[in-house]
Amino acid sequence: MRKKQESSEYKVKGKRLECPICNHKRFYTKKTLMNTPGMTFFGLEWANKEANNYICENCGYVYWFLER
Ligand SMILES: [Zn+2]
Repeated sequence: MRKKQESSEYKVKGKRLECPICNHKRFYTKKTLMNTPGMTFFGLEWANKEANNYICENCGYVYWFLER
């Protein structure tokens, strides 16, 4: 079951987020915890960190931003 989510425009560090693939400017967001099984190859310092995902509404390209 997927919840319908509104896409929106986002800014990161004062710059508008734009898809590098299709130049679309509207994204969906989701948060992913980095300590899930299968993600451990990234290294221990990633454990228990949350990542913000921005998913291009148009082509599905996914940005990953780690929260510090
Ligand atoms: Zn795109």
